[in-house]
Amino acid sequence: MTSILVIEDDPSIRAALDRGLSERGHHVQTAASGIAGLEAVLGDRPDVVLLDLGLPDVDGLTVIGMIRAASAVPVIVITAVDDDPTMVRALDSGADDYVVKPFRLDQVTARIRAVMRRSQRGATTEPIRVGELLIHEPTRTATLAGEQLELARREFDLLFALAERVGVVVSKRTLLAEVWQQVDGSDRTVDVHLSWLRRKLGETAAEPRYLDSVRGVGVRLIDPTDRADRKTS
Ligand code: CA
Repeated sequence: MTSILVIEDDPSIRAALDRGLSERGHHVQTAASGIAGLEAVLGDRPDVVLLDLGLPDVDGLTVIGMIRAASAVPVIVITAVDDDPTMVRALDSGADDYVVKPFRLDQVTARIRAVMRRSQRGATTEPIRVGELLIHEPTRTATLAGEQLELARREFDLLFALAERVGVVVSKRTLLAEVWQQVDGSDRTVDVHLSWLRRKLGETAAEPRYLDSVRGVGVRLIDPTDRADRKTS
């Protein structure tokens, strides 16, 4: 069970998050102002904070800074403001991720899972190793057989989302939510980026190595030598 602190002044959004996240088995606490939220962060030590940027008492960006001064708890910003400068400032202030209103609950839970996975892996600087592929999240770099891969931002995010659960088939819907923050996006977006990623990994859909597509389900990242083992066994 994840304990989640919701800092949100809008009563209806606060209640919806409280109810929805509680129904999914999380322990939810709420605060209606920045100051009350800060007190809850310090007093209750939640696992994740959902923070509305538009609060009545203290600016959300200031709240992030005050949380960061005291705690490494993952902070997901919730905002009605869908503009990049605000998001960049929020992330620079120490937020871990964000969702934009209006959001759907599965979008929020996908972000919570993602930040929890990152925080549970902790400050480890160990790269994820899959066969000859090394993925290093802190520096956002990947190498294949020692050669640095030139990956665009989304390509790295996609590779990393798969690398975080090696061997597990991840649905395109989940990838759209985690990599693109879209709940109603097109599978085609994922397909296109997968084909670019394949090319950079030196493989094709006809002759896959690391990226194993499971028709109608999704895709997973695997060690190609395991694939060979399976074929021969
Ligand atoms: Ca607000």
